Amino acid sequence: SESELCLLQEEIGETDERASLPRNMIENTMFEEEPDVVDLALEPDEVVYEPRSSRLLVRGLGENDLDDEEEDYESSARLLGMSFMNRSSTHNSSSSPYNRQAPPRLCSCPSARMLVVGVFILVLVASMAMALYFLPGCTFTKAGCGKANSSIPMEPSYPNSTNGELFPWNELRLPASVRPVNYDLSLTPNLTSMTFTGRTVINMTILHDTKRIVLHSSELIITKATFQDKSVEVKVLEYKPWQQIAVSFLEDLKVGQVCVLTLDYAANLSHTYDGFYNSSYNDKTGAKRVLAATQFEPQAARKAFPCFDEPAFKATFLVRITREPGYITLSNMPQAKTTTLPSGLLEDEFEQTAVNMSTYLVAFIVANFTSITRNVSNTLVSVYSVPEKKEHTHYALDTASTLLHFYNTFFHIDYPLRKLDLVAIPDFLAGAMENWGLITFRETSLLVGNQSSPLDKQLIANVVAHELAHQWFGNLVTMRWWNDLWLNEGFATYWQYTSLMTEFPQLDLDNVFLGVRFKAMAKDSLNSSHPVSVSSQVTTPEQVSEMFDSVTYEKGASLLLMLKTTLPDGQFRKGIIKYLDNYRGSNTVTEDLWNSLTQVGVQESVSDMMRTWTLQNGFPLVTVSRKGGHVTLTQEPFLLSADNATHTSNLWHIPVTYVNDNCSSAPSCRQIFTLRNKTATLNVSDSVKWLKLNYMNTGFYIVHYGDEGWATLIDALKTDINTLTPHDRASLIHNIFALSRLGRVSFRQVLNLLDYTTNETETAPLTEALSQLSSVYRLLDKRQEQRLLARMKVYIWGHFGQLMDSQDWGEEESVSRQELRSVLLEMACSLGRQNCTDQATALYDQWTNSNQTKQIPGDLQQVVFSTAAQADLRWLSLMEAYSSTTYDSEKRKILQALASTQDPRSIVWILSTGLEGGIIQTQELPLVISTVSDGFAGHLLVWDFVKENWDRIIEKFPVGSYPIQSIIKSTTSQFSTQTHLEEVQGFFSSLKERGSQMRSVQESLETIRLNQLWMDRNLPTLRIWL
Ligand SMILES: [Zn+2]
Repeated sequence: SESELCLLQEEIGETDERASLPRNMIENTMFEEEPDVVDLALEPDEVVYEPRSSRLLVRGLGENDLDDEEEDYESSARLLGMSFMNRSSTHNSSSSPYNRQAPPRLCSCPSARMLVVGVFILVLVASMAMALYFLPGCTFTKAGCGKANSSIPMEPSYPNSTNGELFPWNELRLPASVRPVNYDLSLTPNLTSMTFTGRTVINMTILHDTKRIVLHSSELIITKATFQDKSVEVKVLEYKPWQQIAVSFLEDLKVGQVCVLTLDYAANLSHTYDGFYNSSYNDKTGAKRVLAATQFEPQAARKAFPCFDEPAFKATFLVRITREPGYITLSNMPQAKTTTLPSGLLEDEFEQTAVNMSTYLVAFIVANFTSITRNVSNTLVSVYSVPEKKEHTHYALDTASTLLHFYNTFFHIDYPLRKLDLVAIPDFLAGAMENWGLITFRETSLLVGNQSSPLDKQLIANVVAHELAHQWFGNLVTMRWWNDLWLNEGFATYWQYTSLMTEFPQLDLDNVFLGVRFKAMAKDSLNSSHPVSVSSQVTTPEQVSEMFDSVTYEKGASLLLMLKTTLPDGQFRKGIIKYLDNYRGSNTVTEDLWNSLTQVGVQESVSDMMRTWTLQNGFPLVTVSRKGGHVTLTQEPFLLSADNATHTSNLWHIPVTYVNDNCSSAPSCRQIFTLRNKTATLNVSDSVKWLKLNYMNTGFYIVHYGDEGWATLIDALKTDINTLTPHDRASLIHNIFALSRLGRVSFRQVLNLLDYTTNETETAPLTEALSQLSSVYRLLDKRQEQRLLARMKVYIWGHFGQLMDSQDWGEEESVSRQELRSVLLEMACSLGRQNCTDQATALYDQWTNSNQTKQIPGDLQQVVFSTAAQADLRWLSLMEAYSSTTYDSEKRKILQALASTQDPRSIVWILSTGLEGGIIQTQELPLVISTVSDGFAGHLLVWDFVKENWDRIIEKFPVGSYPIQSIIKSTTSQFSTQTHLEEVQGFFSSLKERGSQMRSVQESLETIRLNQLWMDRNLPTLRIWL
């Protein structure tokens, strides 16, 4: 009855969107989505999960006023690295999960009848809960307690299928009773009608007696289904909201039984960037060429074929694809044979996969690409592109060959397939995708001209190194579920830098990796961050998409670096080899990694240490205070918070490294001290003048030296800049800006440190200083603080002007010098330093006048193009160059230049053209948006544009995905007023299920509040001191 519904809603604190669900669903979701209760213990691994029902017991007995307690649960849970995100795709509550608000009370005047019914239900729930309470609880493992639900002896309640019958399953995750063994896929794409048909034959084994087979399928029309004998048709039920289909049986399928399900289906090729999608490009004659390719990670294999689309359901695959002559097809495995069909079409059949793999790694392509190849060990490596770009594939082939050899040797496990294809796809959303044996890339991430600059090549090498590392970390050993995505991405990111530092030291990756660690800290210092290994719910598609963020990738990689530098030489590698060997072909959770390390002799205390980093979000601030030889270290969470309300008592085991004035720059100077408690004392000799902590910034923490400590370090740098390594200098600059943002040091102290930079010539510290200053400048610019901006320019010229003017504009070999030069000149020209703009304009005119034959050095292209784009006529000539160039790296820089214009009409044009696709591919829209956002003229226009076109944008880029995260961040992160805060809040909360729940929205609101606070605190200081 209605009142029952009403009461239940109050009980579970959800909104009226649930009212439309059948009652059984509400009960069910109540069990489904209640946050688990955790017992607090000091050691995260001793925590015991209570059955979910015990929480219901508490609530069922009438404590409906739990908001405060929930806050407690939430903050204490954060200690364990849990954040309660009480969401689902089908019924989102309108309040943000990060800001728990009192639920709307729908039934404010309970009638007597309702109370009676309510009490009855409470008693029912309570007694059920009592019964469940005495069922054995399960011990908390890092993977959570997934099996707890299946032991509930309650008649489950089910949603309705599309045809009205009950769907025999009621969870987003698939049942574990059936395991796929092999898929036999036949696909017939039609590139004229942009449709395809398919047949999928799935061989399965039954793991537990069951009456149902449940699997994923999305946007596929199943035309026929047979079970076992192909003449026996079965009925397929579909529950669309969860993208599941099911076949029910009257009698149990028995344990150990082998089954075959055959499904025929039809579908459209996707017009977004996932599933089996179509793409096109214009060839050199201007004719439109079409192709079809796949992108399945994280959850889109189900859009191409019905499957058990979870990473732990590994199986083998045999793929057949039909094509017209004139096209080629590619898939994970080498081609086995080609058959001519009666229709004149050709059918390519690929070998069955030699390995068990997850569905998200399956891939196939139909296109007219050409390739170059090389044999490396026993693997044929090929790079594919559209025919006109074949010349741009050599660098990728060289790099891939070198790295394949490196990984084969380093990991002691050979790449298991006979071929490895790297394919540049003309319109592709991600940077690249590591499909086993068939890695797909954006053209800009794979193709590079021979004469391109080392800086352009560095980008390609990075992406190739990352995707190749995935062939082991991700493909061979896969995380069990997306909550541990860092086991894939943190490792791939870590190896990307490490392998390149070893094999291509000239590419200067150690500076890049340092910048990445700083970037990860920026995101992880906000309340909206999440632990690297997420133990709360990651189930809905949005939650899964959101895992692909800087914390998972970059903090993950940073933690691995910290671990590696903490262990004795060689031990990290040994542990990693053990991990790969233990789990090859299967799936893992984070604990498996620590166990593998223990097996090679790594102390248990190291695993304990790492748990404090992977299970909690955020990172520590270490404060140093010194009395003679006694150095006291104190830790606290480094949490940027505008309201001071949400401080946690998180503790980390911090491997604190330090050097002192007697021995400060060589690696052998490094000493280490593990800070496990809130405070500890370290003894040094009285004669030591100063300490610098976090040697080379390999630890994921920030250090505050106190007024005196900073002063002695600054003195030391002014006396001899080389007393610290460039990384340590960059680390000091980063830390002091961060402390100023936290309100621990004044901006005056920041400027005190920066005074030493007039003697600085190294890339890492200078790029860090300039990037910090330019973000301050951009904030002031958006507030139109004209007088301050003018003074800040004077300050920048005073400190860096000479260095800017002394830069050479010719060819430069060193990547590190190129990086520095481009950063210096981009800042100089964008702030209008005459010397710079004159040189840039002259180079641009030479380039156009020589019909683009007089090359601009690659690292200077951006500054030259962007400077040129500020003049109307040159902007138009750049537009022409954009359409005609075939060099992808150049094209991207021209696009950024075009988007940097300060002419409002051109800005509006470029935004709408980017959304349209065609002249500017839609894949570039996030880049266009972020470039426009940086400038003054466009930052309000682009925000309006995003609001107005939100629905079209999320049609192209899924809610929660990385491009959407980037769009939200770039359009809102420079706001610093109450009006904008309210506007951003208002807009996103109006979106409801179209995006209001995203973590990036919370992050954006926090950032605006912090900007506001920063302005309040620092504007007066800046007015005095600048
Ligand atoms: Zn990756």
